[in-house]
Amino acid sequence: MRYVSTRGLPGDPTAGFSDILLAGLAPDGGLYVPEEYPQVDRATRSQWRRVLAEQGYSALAHQVLSLFIDDIPSDDLLEICRRAYNKDVFGTDEVVPVEPIGDGPLWLAHLSNGPTAAFKDMAMQLLGQLFEYELTRRDTWLTVLGATSGDTGSSAEYALRGLDRVQVFMLTPAGRMTPFQQAQMFSLTDPNIVNIAVDGVFDDCQDLVKAVNADAEFKARWHIGAVNSINWARLVAQVVYYVAAWLRASSDDEQPISVCVPTGNFGNIAAAHVAKQMGIPLDTLVLATNENNVLDEFFRTGVYRPRSSAETLATSSPSMDISKASNFERFVFDLLGRDGARIRQLFTTGLLTEGQIDLSQTAEFAGLRERYGFVSGCSSHADRVTTIRQLWESDQVLVDPHTADGVKVAAAYADQVATPLVVMETALPVKFAETITEALGEAPELPERFRAMLDAPRHVLELPNDVAALQELIAERAAER
Ligand SMILES: *Cc1c(COP(=O)(O)O)cnc(C)c1O
Repeated sequence: MRYVSTRGLPGDPTAGFSDILLAGLAPDGGLYVPEEYPQVDRATRSQWRRVLAEQGYSALAHQVLSLFIDDIPSDDLLEICRRAYNKDVFGTDEVVPVEPIGDGPLWLAHLSNGPTAAFKDMAMQLLGQLFEYELTRRDTWLTVLGATSGDTGSSAEYALRGLDRVQVFMLTPAGRMTPFQQAQMFSLTDPNIVNIAVDGVFDDCQDLVKAVNADAEFKARWHIGAVNSINWARLVAQVVYYVAAWLRASSDDEQPISVCVPTGNFGNIAAAHVAKQMGIPLDTLVLATNENNVLDEFFRTGVYRPRSSAETLATSSPSMDISKASNFERFVFDLLGRDGARIRQLFTTGLLTEGQIDLSQTAEFAGLRERYGFVSGCSSHADRVTTIRQLWESDQVLVDPHTADGVKVAAAYADQVATPLVVMETALPVKFAETITEALGEAPELPERFRAMLDAPRHVLELPNDVAALQELIAERAAER
């Protein structure tokens, strides 16, 4: 399998999986996508059903990932999958349990039983194993520099902690994460994890990361890399759980399901799109946003209008508070017939001069639902609080605010789809206790495995909002290793 850029031109060189694993963005600023999606026929789907039933999630992951990764020997890839997906890491043998809510038609796919209680662990755990494997093979090392408002940073740290060849520097806005999120990150004692509290907001942290990356000499000297959501390896890891969700919610190889995905960056649902394009029987892809409804607006109107940070609302499903959806370009690439020149025009000059991408009058947008199965909706604070309460009262199912956005939007489409409709759970309620308390009048139960962490000593360095100070710290720490 070779990979191309969404902004590439015919004849541009292609790349292998291992290269794009460590690369992030393509050199032309586009995102990497497979040259074509592997096609999964009925015989393969039946075989996958047996593999999941008899050998479990990690064996299924191995089968699916093998279609995208041909530069890691099969036995090694299986071992990588086993280390990433097992009961020790994800708490259950199923790894991703999938269950109906009451009598249906809604189901829940539990994606957040990993170490940091958010679905990002599903991708990060694999990424950590792939990094260690590839860095060892190349006998090199990596400095991961990231900025987080909560979920991504902790999930990256739990996936990369203890690795010999990776040093992590994670910037957080001082005093602005929830107590749970702070405890989760700052209780870590691994020497390869450095938490940094920046005197500023999340955007300041992100600007610092950009500034360090813009210093080409420094970047090369300290092998600076990233683990952000545009990384193809993260996306392909997520394709596996759509296959598992279909296998677990369907009764035979012919029965399709639909999925509903709470999304911000179009990361999670991009994997559903890929699974559908591969021939996994996913009927309708229901996209759910919160009040930051950039994506809902696109699927309703054909106009993609990223917002400024000032226009981005701080909501009670904070992990979906985004102003532009960084993975969206991958979908538009497919929608417009994989025309890299057109994508380059739309996402660079087009966005700059017009501030939006308007596809409302195109034949591609007119045929979108039929061809790609997407529909969308959005949810508000009142909706999520009501949904959390109703679901608890009717079925004793407790969901976090992001998953509640998904359930709310899914319920609106339940009558229109003739299949089971599986809502992808993106976090555990304990991470967002404040909104749960508002909905139910009491805080969610704290799972045993998180208790010790809340009282553990904190390890975090304070830093002014200053690039030179950050570079000095990185150089000092990296040189020690
Ligand atoms: C990251 C995150 C999301 C949004 O996922 P995308 O891949 O950006 O669409 C939703 N819910 C939770 C809890 C998250 O951490």
